[in-house]
Amino acid sequence: MINVKAPEGEYIRSWSEFQFLPNIADWVRLFNALDFLVIVVTNQRGVALGKLTEEQLGEIHANMIRELGSMSARIDDVFACPHHTDVCECRKPKPGMVLKAQDKWGVDLGRSLMIGDSDSDAELATACGLRFLRVRDGRLV
Ligand SMILES: [Zn+2]
Repeated sequence: MINVKAPEGEYIRSWSEFQFLPNIADWVRLFNALDFLVIVVTNQRGVALGKLTEEQLGEIHANMIRELGSMSARIDDVFACPHHTDVCECRKPKPGMVLKAQDKWGVDLGRSLMIGDSDSDAELATACGLRFLRVRDGRLV
């Protein structure tokens, strides 16, 4: 997780509502320095629910990448699932986005690490043979 979550049932709809978690640029820079690819995989059901458009989501992600870049932190790619629950192969914990990233970037899943805050992240990591670290509010738990 990269930003402060919206309250349950609400969605971040614009860059002005987006707030980085503390130290996130440091985390990203650490993995950059270790030569890891830093790839974000995110469920964004708000798009399917009409809370925000794909364009707005893309803009938020572009701003996120630019802002981190200004702190010397490089995000290599972002994959987002804009779908409703149970209608696609990409909404976490389904493996679609991980498989896409693997295919596009030649990721070796066995030497990769997933960092996430939810049970669906943990489930996805297990299903894909990824090591998993759980975080909450920007800290390991
Ligand atoms: Zn999807």
